[in-house]
This record gives sequence, C-alpha cells and structure tokens, in this order.
Amino acid sequence: MKLTLANISKLALEVGFDACGAAPVRRLDQDAQYMDEWVALGLHGNMEYLSRNCDKRYDPALLVPGAQWVVVCLLSYEHSGRDYHRRVKSMLYTLESKLREAFGDDIVSQTHQHIFCDSAPFLERAWCVEAGLGFIGKNRQLIHPTMGSMVHPGEIVLNCSLTGVAELPSETRNYHQTGLRQGCENCQLCIEACPTGALRNEVWDATQCIAYTTHHCLQCQIICPMNNKT
Ligand code: SF4
Ligand code: SF4
Repeated sequence: MKLTLANISKLALEVGFDACGAAPVRRLDQDAQYMDEWVALGLHGNMEYLSRNCDKRYDPALLVPGAQWVVVCLLSYEHSGRDYHRRVKSMLYTLESKLREAFGDDIVSQTHQHIFCDSAPFLERAWCVEAGLGFIGKNRQLIHPTMGSMVHPGEIVLNCSLTGVAELPSETRNYHQTGLRQGCENCQLCIEACPTGALRNEVWDATQCIAYTTHHCLQCQIICPMNNKT
C-alpha cells in the first residue's frame, strides 16, 4: 500500500476518528509572531510554559528530528467521552501501530515523542488549519466545516514523505485574521455571549476566561452558528 493521505485517512476513520488531514512540516512563522505578541501582553495568564521551548513549539522539526509531515486527526465531543485526552491518545497509538504495520517502523521517530494531544510544545490548532481541517474562529477555536468547534485534535508526526495532499491556498493560512474567515465575517455572537469579555478585540484573554480557570464554560461554542447547523 502506498503512503498517501487517503490511505492514512481510511485507517484513521477505522480507528474511530471523525476527520483526518496532513501538512508538511515547516516553522509556523505567523503563529510564532502572534504567540510572542500575545505572551508579551500577558494574555496567557499563568500558562508560563507558553514562554518556554518556543523554538520547538513553532517548528516540529526541532521537536522531532527528521519530522516531515504532521498528520492531524479530529474526534468530535460526541464520540470522545469525558476523558478525551486518554481516548484521543489511545486512538492515536492504535493508528500509529496500524501505520507501522502497513508502511514500516521507520515512518515515525523511534527515539522521540511523536504523538501529541494537548501535550508538549505543539501548536495544535494551527496544525489543524495547516492540515485543511478548518479555520480559527473569533472564539479562537478551530472550526471544522461540518463538525464546528466541538472537536478534539490529536497529531502524529511522520518522519517520511507523504503524497496525495492538496496544497492550501496561501490566503487560507492567514488564520489569525479571524474576521476574514468564512462564517465569522458578520458575526459577533461569541464575543457578545462571553460573560467576562475574554474575547474582546477578537483576541483570547486567558486571564479573563472562565474555561481556563474553572473548565465550566462553553458559551462561546454553544452560541456559535457553526455548531448549530442542523
Ligand atoms: S469559554 Fe466562556 S469565558 Fe472563555 S472565552 Fe468562551 S465564553 Fe468567554
Ligand atoms: S459565533 Fe460567530 S464569530 Fe464566533 S466563532 Fe462562531 S461564527 Fe465566528
């Protein structure tokens, strides 16, 4: 079997993921600039780790030697259960063993961590966009075209080449300009629904976000029309 995105996606869906995409490894320059400015403004609150390991966070090739492609999988909230970290990670490990079985052990790093789910210095949402799985809305969530923002991402970094991946139009990469994104243009619902003003100016202020402090707020997702299409 040839190592193509279509073949990887087929295995990912068999494992139970709802969507899969891939993107070539590169340094995420635009994100690096955005994150550096965001952290400099202190909007990251107590997430001190965001000011560490920045080089690795912005470039997976520095995190996983030999990294060539990032495979991104999405699991909907509906299918993830309460302990989504464990569920997504376990599914990624199952997918990895299926990939090794089909394409050989050398496709992933043998000595470095190469599976991520809300862990390690890794810009998950940015890689979701890079992999063609959606855009970042004004609520600062990834918004998938059909599943909306109620999805958990997980990634596998491959140390080999991959074919069959359509190149993203360059304007699609401009994902920090949230007002330009399809669906968000004339909408302010998430900003208006946020009880603390944490999304003022279309920038997420972690110090004001209830979800960041207590984990009990989904207002900016519940109100979003992209999550209420049916
Ligand atoms: S999770 Fe709640 S507090 Fe945080 S940005 Fe969304 S609506 Fe605002
Ligand atoms: S509520 Fe509106 S502005 Fe906010 S993310 Fe959803 S579509 Fe975009």
